Amino acid sequence: MSAEMLAFGPVPSRRLGNSLGINHIPAKYCTYACVYCQVGPTHPLTLRRQTFFPAVEVARAVAGKLSRAQHAGQNVDAITFVPDGEPTLDLNLGEMLAILKPLGITLAVITNGSLMWNAEVRAALLGANWVSVKVDAAHERVWRAVNRPHGRLSFEQVMDGIRTFAAEFQGTLVTETMLVDGVNDSDAEIDTLADFLAEVQPDEAWLGTPIRPAVDPWVRALPDERLFTVARRAQAQVPVLRTLGAEPESGFVLTGDPLDDILAITAVHPLREETLLAMLRARGEGAPWLEAQVVAGRLRRISYRGTDFYLYDWERGKEKRKP
Ligand code: SF4
Repeated sequence: MSAEMLAFGPVPSRRLGNSLGINHIPAKYCTYACVYCQVGPTHPLTLRRQTFFPAVEVARAVAGKLSRAQHAGQNVDAITFVPDGEPTLDLNLGEMLAILKPLGITLAVITNGSLMWNAEVRAALLGANWVSVKVDAAHERVWRAVNRPHGRLSFEQVMDGIRTFAAEFQGTLVTETMLVDGVNDSDAEIDTLADFLAEVQPDEAWLGTPIRPAVDPWVRALPDERLFTVARRAQAQVPVLRTLGAEPESGFVLTGDPLDDILAITAVHPLREETLLAMLRARGEGAPWLEAQVVAGRLRRISYRGTDFYLYDWERGKEKRKP
């Protein structure tokens, strides 16, 4: 991953407002290989924490993006570690949070929580103001089916790690559950999951379903009706439970070079065609420009639930970022 892709946005987030993203993990180092992952197949599937980029380099990328956002009249409500991999695999996470703290902007981390049993990981995350942790399953068999964890991860240890972190963390703790039709949405699974969430007591618990193309083509989203039924069932135990539906993609803007901005955003967040065209119109570009990126192998077009999405093409894009 190139240095100019270390920071992206700001992009609109329903939970965080206008969020400037940090992508500090090369695609796609992760401890999980979730069936619904939208950033491609996990490789390597690893538990080895390591250094990827110097913390100062990330801080410089953030400062550059903040300055461009300011010039474009864009607010930044949060700086979010949302890489296309698992952020706690980065040994520099704690140092990066410490360097960014003086900016006085909410520091958010979106993690799968699989390494929270590790005291060093928890210590790093304590430097954030807002942490979102993934809780997709409450039974080991379902966890293995939906998250496809690294073979040396223990389900009990992962759940205990999340409990411990929840008890230690003084900031805003959010849980995120992605429901896949026929995989982790049975009534029995939802009831046990709600028990776990009630124990962890997050400030907010979000239920979602894959609304963007997933790594496994058989993955299906829950119909809205089923998602709301599930939410109502769990809300009896977890009143702070909310649903993440098909959010309108409004508020995406280009602050710098269109190609760099679009590649950086689509590396972690596939965008609908209509969203990209609206962003490009502001720069006097349109469908031919988009098509050229597809032909050149920088972007990949995927049709999902009747809508065309565009993703950074990791396989072909690495060598073809520049015109
Ligand atoms: S969804 Fe997140 S945790 Fe799951 S494989 Fe993708 S990057 Fe890893």
